[in-house]
Amino acid sequence: MLEKMEILDVEKLIGDFEVMTKDAENVQRETLKMILEENGCAEYLQNMGLNGRTDPESFKACVPLVTHKDLEPYIQRVADGAFSPILTGKPITTISLSSGTTQGKPKFVPFNNELMETTLQIYHTSFAFRNREFPIENGKALQFIYSSKHSKTKGGLFAGTATTNVFRNPQFKKAMTAMQSECCSPDEVIVGPDFHQSLYCHLLCGLIFHEEIQLVSSTFAHSIVLAFRNFEQVWEELCDDIREGVLTSRITFPSVRSAMAKLLKPNPELADLIEKKCSRLSNWYGLIPELFPNVKYIYGIMTGSMEPYLKKLRHYAADVPLISADYGSSEGWIGANINPSLPPESTTYAVLPNIGYFEFIPLKENVEGHMQENGNVSFLSTEPKPVGLTEVKVGEEYEVIITSFAGLYRYRLGDVVKVMGFHNSTPELKFVCRRNLMLTINIDKNTEKDLQLAVEEAAKLIAEEKREVIDFSSNVDVSADPGHYVIFWEISGEVSDEVLKECCNCLDRSFVDAGYVSSRKVNAIGPLELRVVWKGTFHKILDHYLRLGAVVSQFKTPRYVEPTNNKVLQILGDNVAKNYFSTAF
Ligand code: AMP
Repeated sequence: MLEKMEILDVEKLIGDFEVMTKDAENVQRETLKMILEENGCAEYLQNMGLNGRTDPESFKACVPLVTHKDLEPYIQRVADGAFSPILTGKPITTISLSSGTTQGKPKFVPFNNELMETTLQIYHTSFAFRNREFPIENGKALQFIYSSKHSKTKGGLFAGTATTNVFRNPQFKKAMTAMQSECCSPDEVIVGPDFHQSLYCHLLCGLIFHEEIQLVSSTFAHSIVLAFRNFEQVWEELCDDIREGVLTSRITFPSVRSAMAKLLKPNPELADLIEKKCSRLSNWYGLIPELFPNVKYIYGIMTGSMEPYLKKLRHYAADVPLISADYGSSEGWIGANINPSLPPESTTYAVLPNIGYFEFIPLKENVEGHMQENGNVSFLSTEPKPVGLTEVKVGEEYEVIITSFAGLYRYRLGDVVKVMGFHNSTPELKFVCRRNLMLTINIDKNTEKDLQLAVEEAAKLIAEEKREVIDFSSNVDVSADPGHYVIFWEISGEVSDEVLKECCNCLDRSFVDAGYVSSRKVNAIGPLELRVVWKGTFHKILDHYLRLGAVVSQFKTPRYVEPTNNKVLQILGDNVAKNYFSTAF
């Protein structure tokens, strides 16, 4: 059906979504039934004793909750080319590499046509709602998208990042055309083997088509900020290329050069115009609308670990709306942003009840104390008791569990979400953080969100000096007793020692978790340390992940670096310019 569609029928898409979400519970039952019928012959499900039953109750009773580690041996056999159905009824032909930024190595997850279909469904759904409020005209999109290096697994399966698998699928281009969001760059640029060269060419294509650009987008907002930070460095070179109609010799890949040669013609008027626009700007404020006068909005995932980039993005965007893209993962999609006029800080994602079967582990219940027979309260963690999609409660936080059409059953995704309300009978989720990103030394527990809030607070002190935190990360140093938190900052310019000492104290004070504060007061946790790293350090971390096979499109700076992630720790350690210890307690 999608193949025939040239321009999307937005009202019909919204109508279908309304009908489906009014009956979310039944749709979930039906979806589970379909997943189990399609994949019932797979070894994994055969071993669970379902014996053909497809109802949620039997499913929950027979199939255990799992993490990626539990499924790894099965996925490995699929990747090694096992002949029999292992996780899915139909053979898996493609493997996705998830970003794996915390642990330091990408994970394998299955990718199949059904996952591609759900990707398109979520793209179409959010587009329908977005286009109703922010209609775009026929034009082009400046999309900072990149393919990863792809490889073949031992069994001959194609392996690339999930976004690469999506971008390379012919359905993707059709969907972009149907959504009037065709990428202004040629395919050779998107699949180009060197990210730096592709980024330069994306910018150049954007400038060539500057009047046609309707939206600027990327998968995660980080790539947009990275692109325009780069623009600040290379804009004169871009103008030279446009003036002469000759591509800089820095672009070396023949396929990319010849694709760009077809677009690039000498255009001194355009070069002059861009130069004039750039020199008019004050500190690059409003760069995006200045370069692209018809841009309607900026689009990409902007919640969770992307929030720290919003300040810079707003600076470049001025009054162009920022709209967060949908919520999903290499393992499967979860929800669409159907309220695009909300700012990213308030964005929620409405779960699509037919793209997977969803369960939620209530976080409150699992950490609450339980009264024992002897009257004592036990705080031992209890067996997680997930609830169904329509059973979640507004205001509560949950860990997401996915059962997908691509061979994952009751899979703990590791994300924490908060239920903000319901759209008909499907919940609207706010992304909170990754569950396992936890700064902890003894009884303290701080999540990615806590770290982000602390950094935001302390960064206000350098904002007074017109400086910003370009990127940040953390770990715990337990090499001496007591252990302490270490926060790494890359900043945009010089800041005095006095102010940085204050920032360090502010970071320490901003972790308000009771376990942390009480431990700090009795020195069971030592003074927090702020390590300021040289400019470009986080770029080295990005490059390191790219060498491992990650892709910029899916890159998320690791906010917490595991002690086993030696390479990233080494990059950070080798680049410390200054360090400060808190005197806040
Ligand atoms: P990947 O491992 O590269 O597939 O990335 C998937 C992860 O990115 C998810 O599990 C989330 O932690 C994060 N993510 C994806 N979409 C969003 C979103 N809309 N908001 C916040 N975080 C997201």
